[in-house]
Amino acid sequence: MTTTLLGVPFDAASSYRRGAAQGPAAIRAALRSPATNGWSESLRQVVDELRDAGDVDCDAGDVRAAIDQRAQHLFAGGARVIALGGDHSITYPLIRAVSRTLGADHFSVLHFDAHPDLYPDYEGDPYSHACPFARVMEERLTHRLVQVGIRCMTDVQQREADRYGVEVIDMRAWVRGQRPRLEGAVYVSLDLDVFDPGFAPGVSHPEAGGLSPRDVITVIQDLEGDLIGADVVELNPSRDLTEITAPLAAKLVKELAARMTGDRR
Ligand code: MN
Ligand code: MN
Repeated sequence: MTTTLLGVPFDAASSYRRGAAQGPAAIRAALRSPATNGWSESLRQVVDELRDAGDVDCDAGDVRAAIDQRAQHLFAGGARVIALGGDHSITYPLIRAVSRTLGADHFSVLHFDAHPDLYPDYEGDPYSHACPFARVMEERLTHRLVQVGIRCMTDVQQREADRYGVEVIDMRAWVRGQRPRLEGAVYVSLDLDVFDPGFAPGVSHPEAGGLSPRDVITVIQDLEGDLIGADVVELNPSRDLTEITAPLAAKLVKELAARMTGDRR
């Protein structure tokens, strides 16, 4: 089963800094960089095996509808898709496409992030990058949402998490040893600000006290479920001054692609 990349160069739903629209190009460049090779840790040449569906046109019209349409076409054709963001607002139409293809009861979502992204709206915008999982749960697009790495919870978002039964493994729970356990089909949404800024400074909302790359890679490699789709979002190349965040994003794409083919640790 080959994995298909889909670029989503969109950052107009960012609440603070722009720049994530440059993410897909930076991740593609890092995947092909001679600084490393195209192999996963499970010894698969994943980069040569990747198909690339190009970018969603994000310059005009209804971008969310365009994302949904492109993604649904790929998922319905049986592809396993890794979407490259873009800000986190793109995940709502991506999950909507998965849900329409598989049905809400037939896949879970594993969400890595410093932030729960569960605001009912943010500064009046219900489609802000601070809101995608409120939309996902409100429309019941999946039957299970597990969040990992959270360290910016607020009262408003905690109420939404309680209301929708979101399983939140915040950083305190992570340190106590709690880990996500998911079976069946799984979609992974990976906001790069889940990492400690020391590992991944090139994001718009760096938040101290986060996970290490090895923490996240181990969760992906140990995932019991069947990885059917993923997104890697919030890379902001204009903040990636030491150019270590784009290669990290590329590394995660490789490990996600390897897991999609069935490789485990
Ligand atoms: Mn996010
Ligand atoms: Mn975040």
